[in-house]
Amino acid sequence: MAQELAEGVWLLELSVPVVGANAFLVDDGEVTLVDAGLPRRGLRRELRDAGYGPGAVDRALVTHYDVDHVGGLGDLPDLDAPVFVGERDAALLSGAYDPPLFHHKGAFHRLSRALVPIPAHLDVRPLEDGARVGGFTAYHTPGHNPGHTAYVHDDLGVGLLGDLAWERGGALTPPKWWDSYDTREIRRSIRRFARSVPSVEVLCMGHGTPIRAGGSEALSALASRV
Ligand SMILES: [Zn+2]
Repeated sequence: MAQELAEGVWLLELSVPVVGANAFLVDDGEVTLVDAGLPRRGLRRELRDAGYGPGAVDRALVTHYDVDHVGGLGDLPDLDAPVFVGERDAALLSGAYDPPLFHHKGAFHRLSRALVPIPAHLDVRPLEDGARVGGFTAYHTPGHNPGHTAYVHDDLGVGLLGDLAWERGGALTPPKWWDSYDTREIRRSIRRFARSVPSVEVLCMGHGTPIRAGGSEALSALASRV
């Protein structure tokens, strides 16, 4: 059931234990879908719960190419909106970049690309670090994936972290090595992100319970631990 975390900021509850990621919707006058969850997890139903149809979505922002974050895009064949994703993961998604076969995550990506192809009709647009899309700023935060990108809505004070960090027991924690390309790079990205983002109140993670207040403090605490 979709939950409103703050005015115009919705959690679309698509996650399931162990696998499956959250998606989010931000309405600041324009409607932005952030990530899309696993395929066939009920993205359309969650959008409807929040009061939106796929036709209302003005854009999608993808934090990274993992099947639990992009798979649900296949459930929206009527999505008529650009899909923004960090440059390196856009190349992964389109097939322009073949990830290393002899790396656990690279091999997983090769497999998931074959099993869950991304719909050909999507209007995928690569994003550079620092790019502005509507009210959002993109932060290239590599490590979990080479093109992992977090987004901050400056005016609303909302950070959308994807898998830069997960929530466990009320605190933030980096994602696990087995699900990531490079854990040292994740730690560097966390420290850089915590230093450079403006003050945020709400933090939305791909996995775990969103933090509704004190987002900047939670980020600083994480950065000092990693
Ligand atoms: Zn994930």
